[in-house]
Amino acid sequence: MVQADRVTVRADRGTQLTAQNWQTEAALRMFHNNLDPAVAERPEDLVVYGGTGKAARDWPSFHAISRELAALKEDETLLVQSGRPVGVMRTHEWAPRVLIANSNLVPDWANWPEFRRLEAEGLTMYGQMTAGSWIYIGTQGILQGTYETFAAVARKRFNGTLKGTLTVTAGLGGMGGAQPLAVTMNEGVALCIEVDRQRAERRVETRYLDEIADDIDDAIARCLKAKSEGRALSVGLIGNAAEVLPELLRREVPVDVVTDQTSAHDPLAYLPKGVSVEDWHDYAAKKPDEFTDRSRESMADHVEAMVGFQDRGAEVFDYGNSIRGEAKLGGYERAFDFPGFVPAYIRPLFCEGKGPFRWAALSGDPADIAKTDAAILELFPENEQLARWIKMAGERVEFQGLPARICWLGYGERHLAGLKFNEMVASGELSAPIVIGRDHLDCGSVASPYRETEAMADGSDAIADWPLLNALVNTASGATWVSIHHGGGVGIGRSIHAGQVTVADGTELAARKIERVLTNDPGMGVIRHVDAGYPEASAVAAAKGVHIPMAHN
Ligand code: NAD
Repeated sequence: MVQADRVTVRADRGTQLTAQNWQTEAALRMFHNNLDPAVAERPEDLVVYGGTGKAARDWPSFHAISRELAALKEDETLLVQSGRPVGVMRTHEWAPRVLIANSNLVPDWANWPEFRRLEAEGLTMYGQMTAGSWIYIGTQGILQGTYETFAAVARKRFNGTLKGTLTVTAGLGGMGGAQPLAVTMNEGVALCIEVDRQRAERRVETRYLDEIADDIDDAIARCLKAKSEGRALSVGLIGNAAEVLPELLRREVPVDVVTDQTSAHDPLAYLPKGVSVEDWHDYAAKKPDEFTDRSRESMADHVEAMVGFQDRGAEVFDYGNSIRGEAKLGGYERAFDFPGFVPAYIRPLFCEGKGPFRWAALSGDPADIAKTDAAILELFPENEQLARWIKMAGERVEFQGLPARICWLGYGERHLAGLKFNEMVASGELSAPIVIGRDHLDCGSVASPYRETEAMADGSDAIADWPLLNALVNTASGATWVSIHHGGGVGIGRSIHAGQVTVADGTELAARKIERVLTNDPGMGVIRHVDAGYPEASAVAAAKGVHIPMAHN
């Protein structure tokens, strides 16, 4: 790699180390992998996904982080403050090799205008969830969660399958791009509205989206034909959701499910009506206040149409992008008439400590992931849903960057998978170490009242001690890197969350760390939900022996 300012980045593959050991090599490769053009949405700006979620603050910081990771010793820890390396300290071999804090602001200052002011001064960056914590694995990262969510919708409303139903959504970005495949995996038809043709094309290239229509009549006709034939199909329609969705409502198109994954959490990353894609970034940069007002007004129209579909009997939910909150700010009073997806479908899984467990093969060899897939099937033979997912993912998911896999595993399961992978590295069955991490959207690692902690049973939605304890316990348990972020998913001022990544390098020490981290990390989810009074969580805690001093009886 040249030392010029801006470079094309791709993680190294194979067993040749650039860094001093596999723990830091892993951090270096995953940092670079986040910015691989096959992975990142706008690598030239260091943007990985989710609006402006970045891996490093600027290009000089990128090079400095790369240099420091390559030199870091096994008793040193690199400190990263909002994408910039600020110190290397002597610690010990059980300590994380990297500690990361991204986008954090004192609560009274935690709003977008103040954040942007600081960002423009070069003092901070937006880390999203896995962008600034170096464990983004492309659209697959969200695919299983999206697949499970649509499966839950199918169970709730359509006898367990989306066959013969039409889902309408918007946004085909890094995360939103998982929606069409998740719907077709559930046998349904998806109409996905996207303003930026290039984004839609990228999803076709990676087989997440079947086809693109430029014209609303054509898109409706293709979707309704597939719906009536009970055939799975996904169609991307190039257009603005704030215009197209009200038009679909006006035409009384028989829509069964409506959601949205535009980048609504950031008003500058949502395109208002009447603005072209070409003018978007210039306009947003030059007149952020005016742009924000216009985008909120458009979101109000967009959400009004979503509520309109709900009034007609469709299943409607917010998919964790804050569109209800922004629409309300845009003046639409009924914005919160439909629920968020976590209270509607996901919380029972969180009560079991389940969440988006993921891993990547540092070798770069897809055969390593195929072997880990087989290991998962062997470890959990009784879990049919998991088996169905692993088989389908093996057949249908195109890797982006380093080969990786995601599956939702719970308390008492994750450490078994981690230990098995470590053994497979030690025995040479896998050709190089595996990194094991997760999304920050997990059972015990996030406080986000519009998303993961919306409508908690005890009203504790905004209590943010939990993600901080999560980061501390992962640090104390031996994770390889640990991060604390603010504002991911739903935007500045609306969430605090933490992440961890642990490296299975085949050593005895790694096994001891993995056992602790992958028990304690999902354990936080069980504890959090027992504390909030969920009986399902108490049952898991009792059955699996989670020690909770003042558990509800
Ligand atoms: P992204 O920025 O990569 O993509 C957003 C897409 O929306 C872009 O392709 C953009 O062109 C499109 N868009 C913007 N305005 C539009 C409009 N008016 N009409 C149609 N299309 C429009 O973001 P992403 O990574 O895909 O994330 C999308 C949202 O989902 C974010 O708010 C993110 O925080 C949230 N998110 C949700 C989950 C979850 O589990 N539910 C997880 C991660 C992220």
